[in-house]
Amino acid sequence: MLEVKDKYIYSFSQENEPVMHVASGETLRFHTKDCFCNQITSEEQKVETIDWDFINPATGPVFVEGAKPGDILKVKIEKMELGEYGVMVAISGDGVLGNDFTENKVKIIKVSGDVAEYNEEIQIPCTPMIGVIGVAPAGAAIPCGEPGNHGGNMDNTKIGEGATLYLPVSVEGALLAMGDVHANMGDGEIMVSGIEIPAVVQVSVEVLKGKELRTPFLETQDALYSIASDKDLEQAIYIATSEMCKHIQEKKSYSIQDAGMLMSAVGNLEICQVVDPKRTVRFKMEKKYLK
Ligand code: CA
Ligand code: ZN
Repeated sequence: MLEVKDKYIYSFSQENEPVMHVASGETLRFHTKDCFCNQITSEEQKVETIDWDFINPATGPVFVEGAKPGDILKVKIEKMELGEYGVMVAISGDGVLGNDFTENKVKIIKVSGDVAEYNEEIQIPCTPMIGVIGVAPAGAAIPCGEPGNHGGNMDNTKIGEGATLYLPVSVEGALLAMGDVHANMGDGEIMVSGIEIPAVVQVSVEVLKGKELRTPFLETQDALYSIASDKDLEQAIYIATSEMCKHIQEKKSYSIQDAGMLMSAVGNLEICQVVDPKRTVRFKMEKKYLK
């Protein structure tokens, strides 16, 4: 097994030196740090001690042989192993509720097996997911904290074990990297952190030719999602909806009206996150309607 570890990037960029070159079809394991670069180790620690230059490390990047601009990188998330402790923070001024409190707080959460102990009475069944996963953009570097068409900090709760992510490739080799795993996160990520945790993520990568994507798509056992990010939530909603509509029109040879009405009848517009520099949403269609 190929182990990707000990090399981190803080922005997705075509300038990043690849950690390794792998063939299309290869399986590899990414060893990721939590989004605070594992800097928080106790609840007594002050949020002010965090060095923000080391936020959202993504492990990699990996150069996938044969990937060219215009291709799709298919990333199947096969397995996720979590560390033993997760971290959460409440930071005054940050997130949906940030203006409603002044005192910062750090919370350490024990994770054993697939349960996170929020406190003595609340045990959370873990649904591990990857917050940051993406490829290098064609133009200027994009900080790992930001989501976009290249992927990045999408904080999409559906990017977990068993899911397959399709990313538009913009540079030779794609330059795949990932980090910011959550033992669990609620849709929206309203306080700007999920249960942040180091992890080992096993994925297989494959280069797909002959079809272009404008935004990431995600496939789970029973659903297909378009994913879109924008500074403006309304615009993110429009992009995700329109990309899914175009997909249905093509796949089923439907008019925009027929595809749109099908989406309006059985599709779900869902929030990924509303706290990163851009907002991210996804549009869900059950696969049974796309056959
Ligand atoms: Ca994140
Ligand atoms: Zn995170």
